[in-house]
Amino acid sequence: MPKLFVIAGHGAGDPGACGNGFSEAERVRVLARKIKELGGGNVILGDLSRDYYRDNGVSTLNLPKEYQIVELHMDAGQETARGGHVIIYSGFHADDYDKALADMLTDILPGRSQMIVKRDNLANPERAAMRGYGYRLVEFGFITNAEDVKVFNTQMDDIASGVLAAFGIEAAGNKTGGENMGCILSVNGTTTQYYFDGRTIHPFANGKEKTVIKKVCNGITDSIKLTKDELNDLKNVLKRS
Ligand SMILES: [Zn+2]
Repeated sequence: MPKLFVIAGHGAGDPGACGNGFSEAERVRVLARKIKELGGGNVILGDLSRDYYRDNGVSTLNLPKEYQIVELHMDAGQETARGGHVIIYSGFHADDYDKALADMLTDILPGRSQMIVKRDNLANPERAAMRGYGYRLVEFGFITNAEDVKVFNTQMDDIASGVLAAFGIEAAGNKTGGENMGCILSVNGTTTQYYFDGRTIHPFANGKEKTVIKKVCNGITDSIKLTKDELNDLKNVLKRS
């Protein structure tokens, strides 16, 4: 299984394409962070403050050989133009990663007649080819199309998981087949709060511990109130194997 290096297109002052109230640079950075969040240690997030096209960053990368590169973009065009596609350097054939990405886009962001396109006039595909990196630039639909933007925004987890899956990387959230169960519990009439990780209940000794749990568990549900009886019921359920 390869590891993934994710480049978010544009940035460093270049907003990229704009439409439907969004800029390409901002949207692809949100997606890049989501891919990193779900991919964990299998993903290196490129420097989001940089524009790897303008600063020629691809030519100076120093990645171990097991890394594949994916660069994130959104297209611009007529309002009715829709769909994502994968761009590879013209000298290459699509590999299994490119094909898996194209299949994912066909499912989630359809509309293009050609899902994999070879280009010889884009800087970064050529720079990556010269360096010997496995690289593809992916357009995640049209920012100028309201439906594509809606899909991009509302199905971002699926898109991020799909990108990871194309490289054989399992998204963290999919491991237990369910959503993140972590939450912070408090019990009526008491001051003790607990972190419940889905399996075990851990009391906080102080507010600092709660702060750090909230920091590392992105989007954790805070302050679910239980009665003493409910807490006991929960403890009893957890005792059973
Ligand atoms: Zn772009």
